[in-house]
Amino acid sequence: MFSHLPVMINETIDSLIQNRSGAYLDCTFGLGGHSKEILKNLDSKGSLSAIDQDQVVAEYALKIKDPRFNFQYSKFSNIKNLFKKNKFDGILFDLGVSSLQLDDASRGFSFQKNGKLDMRMDQSNKISAFEWINNAKESEIADIFYYLGEERRSRFFARRVIERRKISLIDSTEDLASIAYTGRHSKKHPATNIFRAVRMFVNNELGEIKDALMASVNLLNDKGRIAVISFHSMEDRIVKNFFKGKVDGSDFDSQLKSIGKIIKPSVAEIQENPRARSAILRIGERSYA
Ligand code: SAH
Repeated sequence: MFSHLPVMINETIDSLIQNRSGAYLDCTFGLGGHSKEILKNLDSKGSLSAIDQDQVVAEYALKIKDPRFNFQYSKFSNIKNLFKKNKFDGILFDLGVSSLQLDDASRGFSFQKNGKLDMRMDQSNKISAFEWINNAKESEIADIFYYLGEERRSRFFARRVIERRKISLIDSTEDLASIAYTGRHSKKHPATNIFRAVRMFVNNELGEIKDALMASVNLLNDKGRIAVISFHSMEDRIVKNFFKGKVDGSDFDSQLKSIGKIIKPSVAEIQENPRARSAILRIGERSYA
């Protein structure tokens, strides 16, 4: 029912897999696009562990019967606990949401498909977008819109949230989208930034990435690689700084060196798959020098 084209699949496989008999970890299984291609490129001694924090994904992934493959339902910030005894030759993060999440109105992610506001990638999280937007203080909402959504009219939109709440709850994705509707013409949907902000907040996306990157270097074999596909500048900045040995402005010895330049999707791929539009792939390699 849902299709999801894996982003920069050839570029990712080429740079991630240096050893066909190696052990790999896909931290963002999604619809398994990258995982399936990794398995195809491994020999019988190779193995792939995968995780995802989405229960729907987990049900699907657990049905895959390949002796080289195993799946665990978890957040990727938890990899240091999940893989205490493992070392990997490559670890992949394909960040953001999948089409499975975005295209299903009942998951409440999208202003294009009206549904009950939710946005939790992990359905066991306590706070959904609905709960947060209907309870948070105006100043907190403004800050989230500003810092996570890079929304210049953050205060104005936060005020509108409060005004709207006086009339009725913000119940659906359409309700939230209407907050940002001003009648002005612009290339992107006026609610794009605030939707992204709420989604990033509800799923603690930046915190997850930082924790997972810091944990992942300890799970790498010598010459093991980390491949990260990010979808906006805020994510990419974290990855870029991490590869340079910085987390939140402080030094962190990641023992990684960047491999090659950043990779972006081809024009043909963007035409075929608009989701790839803003994708950036970075590769880091661990060297125990
Ligand atoms: N590469 C996949 C698509 C991944 S989409 C494919 O080709 O099919 C991103 C996936 O990452 C989503 O399923 C989402 O639930 C998962 N995800 C996002 N943040 C996560 C986190 N912190 N922990 C675990 N999974 C996460």
